[in-house]
Amino acid sequence: VKIAVLKETAAGESRVAASPETVKKFIGLGARVSIEKGAGVAASVNDADYEAMGASVGDLSATIKDADIILGIQGPDPKALKGMKSGAWLVAGLDPFGQRARIDAYAKAGVEALAMEFMPRITRAQSMDILSSQSNLSGYKAVIEAASVYGRAFPMMMTAAGTVSAAKAFIMGVGVAGLQAIATARRLGAQVSATDVRSATKEQIESLGAKAIFVENVAGIEGEGAGGYATEMSDEYKAAQAELVSAHIAKQDIVITTALIPGRPAPRLVSDAQIATMKPGSVIFDLAVAQGGNVEGSKADEVVIKHGVKIIGYANTPAHLAADTSALFSRNLFNFLSAFWDKEAGRPVLPDDDEITAAIRLTKDGKVVNERLLA
Ligand code: NAD
Repeated sequence: VKIAVLKETAAGESRVAASPETVKKFIGLGARVSIEKGAGVAASVNDADYEAMGASVGDLSATIKDADIILGIQGPDPKALKGMKSGAWLVAGLDPFGQRARIDAYAKAGVEALAMEFMPRITRAQSMDILSSQSNLSGYKAVIEAASVYGRAFPMMMTAAGTVSAAKAFIMGVGVAGLQAIATARRLGAQVSATDVRSATKEQIESLGAKAIFVENVAGIEGEGAGGYATEMSDEYKAAQAELVSAHIAKQDIVITTALIPGRPAPRLVSDAQIATMKPGSVIFDLAVAQGGNVEGSKADEVVIKHGVKIIGYANTPAHLAADTSALFSRNLFNFLSAFWDKEAGRPVLPDDDEITAAIRLTKDGKVVNERLLA
């Protein structure tokens, strides 16, 4: 079986879908691995590092030619797949809702597209979950960037010249990214609080030594939907949440927002009126900025200053830590493909009746087949 790894072409994408470690492991399973020239450079991996593990390095057409499986971080432009074997797999973060036209084009090209972000949240698939691996490092990076832009220190410091007080950091949305943001802000010495709509997170927040800020006594809210993801909340809940957050946010120096709802625009958590109550010099990092933003006025890859508050956020946060995020993404891909490896066939085989297959397979035999896209 031939596995091909493409150089990412999306603007600002610096990650790569294979590491020298996973190349070695694929070859250990009996695969041939072909890497597009320069694919890893932006993630601090040189062509020679891949070659040292037994991969071949070549141009795009040589990489794709005869490939059975193509790995990517994002989905490639369908035009780039010209010359691809019919029925070959494309395994990447394909952004199925955002890139629907591309998915149709993959189907038409006879590619079997497998979307890694649709990996089900089941124990067996935990090691294959790109959303978790990438969010984890994003949560860390958001705090580091906020700390860097903030004109004050995070920890309380007692110096001969006087005392510097600890920064107050508020984390909104306590999924994978939020938990890491809490831990990182705590390590830097901030006084940390956090909120979420899922009541299960309360205990997690407290176990990390942060204060949980929660809406109480609003009937009929659970907050947790399928797969442990958040659901859209009732209007009553939203009003109660806005009031609670308003009172709290005015006292914060740093706010990190991470709230996402799958397949929908990100929920608005911070309004311009709330920003106006914050102290000048405060910093907000909007991790959802690329999904429409949790914060009113946030713009991807820009520092927006409103009422003296700096609002920041990256279009692609994981790409700002490309060496580590690439290594973890690559391992997610390897863990997935190796779990389905069929020794006799000498390649991975996806049973039609497997829960993972049903969740991630977008196209097959020229058609879009995924339930979530057909619904
Ligand atoms: P996510 O990225 O979808 O959302 C981030 C957080 O924002 C979530 O905690 C969500 O509840 C919260 N949120 C949504 N709307 C909000 C609002 N209006 N106000 C405040 N917060 C809001 O979430 P995630 O990081 O993917 O994690 C979701 C859950 O899935 C977690 O419990 C996580 O531990 C679990 N998980 C399980 C697996 C697995 O079993 N394989 C893998 C990854 C994550």
